[in-house]
Amino acid sequence: MCVDPAPPPSARLTRRGVLAASAALAGTAGALASGIGPASAASGAATAAGGARRPARTGDLVVEGGTLLDPGTGDVVEDAVVVIRDGVIRAAGRRGRVDVPEGTPRLDAHGRWVLPGLVDAHIHINTMSEAADALRQGATSARSGSTNFYQDIAVRELARQAPELAPRLTAAGVFVTPDLGDTVLGDPDLVPLARLKGGVRSAEALRRVVDVNVARGADVIKTRVNPRAGLAEQDPLEQVYSHEQLSEIVAAAKRHGKGVLCHSYSEQGCHDAVTAGIRSLEHGAFVGERTLAEMRRRGTFFTPTLGAIAGMIGSDDPVLDERGRTYLPLLKKAALAAHRMGVRLAAGTDSSGGVVDPIGGEVELMHSAGLSALDALRTATTGAAELLGLTGTVGRPVRGFAGDLVLVSGDPLADLSVLRAPTRVVHAGIAL
Ligand SMILES: [Zn+2]
Repeated sequence: MCVDPAPPPSARLTRRGVLAASAALAGTAGALASGIGPASAASGAATAAGGARRPARTGDLVVEGGTLLDPGTGDVVEDAVVVIRDGVIRAAGRRGRVDVPEGTPRLDAHGRWVLPGLVDAHIHINTMSEAADALRQGATSARSGSTNFYQDIAVRELARQAPELAPRLTAAGVFVTPDLGDTVLGDPDLVPLARLKGGVRSAEALRRVVDVNVARGADVIKTRVNPRAGLAEQDPLEQVYSHEQLSEIVAAAKRHGKGVLCHSYSEQGCHDAVTAGIRSLEHGAFVGERTLAEMRRRGTFFTPTLGAIAGMIGSDDPVLDERGRTYLPLLKKAALAAHRMGVRLAAGTDSSGGVVDPIGGEVELMHSAGLSALDALRTATTGAAELLGLTGTVGRPVRGFAGDLVLVSGDPLADLSVLRAPTRVVHAGIAL
């Protein structure tokens, strides 16, 4: 079934297997000499996916009477019926042309526009309430931009067992960053990294964080090339990892079949990250044309997180306020240039710290950058689905796709602001 794929390869590997294989690749003697020993036998006993998997919970539902919009084609169908069974769309089309099964619960969508559930391609979900807020605001699927202590791995499972509580999540585990801080307590196999004077910088330290993430069941790897823009005391144009270090991270991820998303701001940083082989560039305010051309050539995605930058404007901190005002127009220009060059864009809110921004707001910002309303909508549906490897599963309201829908109060192509506050959300056939 489309929406309940087999567990990712990592989930079928034991933690011990993943770490032993990577230690062998790294050369165990070198690892011991540096003080980062191989994983202990005791911790190697746990399974990657956190034990036995329970069956996914899904629903049956008929959504009828709304105006259905397919972002894949731009087609609009009035008085539409969508039939969802076992969490999957079995039929969608004009009333009278769709067989409606007897006895299935109905959701009246008269006066509403019906769209596929939206995708937030960059969000930090550390708590139950963040998961619920993202879902309520229409993000039925999301990609994690890392969590402090592997909460996203469990949120992914929460979405399977209780789709009414969390978006379907592509998990990143913990951030591959020089200073892990308290995150070294996220796993016993990260603890040796606490002793490294310069932080996570050597090839083996970088590999270790990637390998522990994969052993814990991460679907993707998150790293950075620049510091944060949202902290006044950090300079987001400094470079924290070199091209060589980024290449090491990408290679380690690739050994496990995983892609890398990279937090980036400076043009040199963006260029180093893209040429190191990342799958998606995150933020990217100063990305230049040479790097966009490289992204086009390599098929690298761009997740500009416009809302996160716009959110700094009006900050009490004058440094952040100024940064927001400087970066936002540059980032909008970069997003539009990317779009025109054929670089694929994905919408991401970069929500974190208890405040979840509606993914619909990011779609509006994409439109304000110069994308058509339909193309802007695609950044949070078909475009983001492709980035998450969910093409054919997520992002369109058609037969065989996930039974994920948002109902909004008007025509989003005439006024995208309706996406900010869906009137109903359906996830895996379960209406919230
Ligand atoms: Zn982020």
